[in-house]
Amino acid sequence: MRNLWVHMTGPDRPGILGRLLDGVSDLGLELTDVEQVAVGDRLILAFAVDLPEHMTDAHEGLTFLARELGLTAELRNERRHPQRSDDLILVVTVLGEPVPARAMAAVGNTLAGYGANIRRIETLARRRLHCIEMLAVTDARHRKAVARDLLSVAARHDVDISVQDEGLDRRSKRLVVMDVDSTLIQGEQIDELATLVGAGEQVSRITHRAMNGELDFRGALRERVALLRGLPVDRLQEVRERLPYNPGVRSLVKVLREMGFRIAILSGGFTYFVDQFKQELGLDYAYANDLEVVDGKLTGETVGPIVDGQRKKELLAEIAESEGIRLDQVIAIGDGANDLPMMGIAGLGIAFNAKPRVREMAPHNINRRGLDSILFLLGIREEEIERVEAK
Ligand SMILES: [Mg+2]
Repeated sequence: MRNLWVHMTGPDRPGILGRLLDGVSDLGLELTDVEQVAVGDRLILAFAVDLPEHMTDAHEGLTFLARELGLTAELRNERRHPQRSDDLILVVTVLGEPVPARAMAAVGNTLAGYGANIRRIETLARRRLHCIEMLAVTDARHRKAVARDLLSVAARHDVDISVQDEGLDRRSKRLVVMDVDSTLIQGEQIDELATLVGAGEQVSRITHRAMNGELDFRGALRERVALLRGLPVDRLQEVRERLPYNPGVRSLVKVLREMGFRIAILSGGFTYFVDQFKQELGLDYAYANDLEVVDGKLTGETVGPIVDGQRKKELLAEIAESEGIRLDQVIAIGDGANDLPMMGIAGLGIAFNAKPRVREMAPHNINRRGLDSILFLLGIREEEIERVEAK
């Protein structure tokens, strides 16, 4: 079906839409579509009406209306292409410090290469970080190739690009599950513990290899915990001071809370610290390994099930089930190889400043400073985050 499309631009001020659409009604025209964006103090407004019987009168009337409102108008009879059933709307989020025009050009060219049409572009953040969100309509058959090519654009231009399907799933997330070491906090619990017994370097070499997926997690954990044997348990608190939160953690938690999210932390570290983080931040769940203590000293063993990659995945599923939350409503965030299984079953799996091998395999990557930058993948704007922070 054909419509008369009217595109108007000019200086924005309150009241334009009301006066304009009153005018459209007065001309006896039936509104079928309307879209508007205001960029700075400029207005870009487009609307469509059913093809009028008396085209010349309608043209004259609409042109007069626009002039009266200080806008320039362009009128066209055209068919709006209806969305085909095999079309997908993709949300492409570009994060950088800054996002260079060259990177955006590459994103645009990549989308165009697959015949994808950009429907909307919005800047979500421009201060601490630069974040641009785009909605693009693409043929579902190109979904994988578009995402793959955009990842290589990200690598070439030093930005992060995440591609998600737009739809209810994206907007119905309810549970966030986070890793702890190098995700919630800076550094690794076991490495800091090892410095107390003079084995810091030896242990941190093992940790690095384990987190990059080069060693079996359970064996590597047992080997490192054994080195702590004989350490008085009351010395553990010294280590807590050396494990600061990552930037952005408090505002991330605050915003998620406002939005009604449940929050869990799952750690290959130790309950001694992880329970404190849960308490301090007001989280809902915390799971980690339990260091065995006899006569006030660590025995060099853990008790209970070891929290490795497989266990994290099981715990994520258990928590979701007990909360009545579907897996596609879960966001999983981590940086290590032992976080990949849980990222794999979550609706949105994000590798945060991850080890190189993890980056390659993770569904989404964020390599920026603040943990709160993951909020941009949910379409949340910087102003909204700041408003919650200020409360
Ligand atoms: Mg970690």
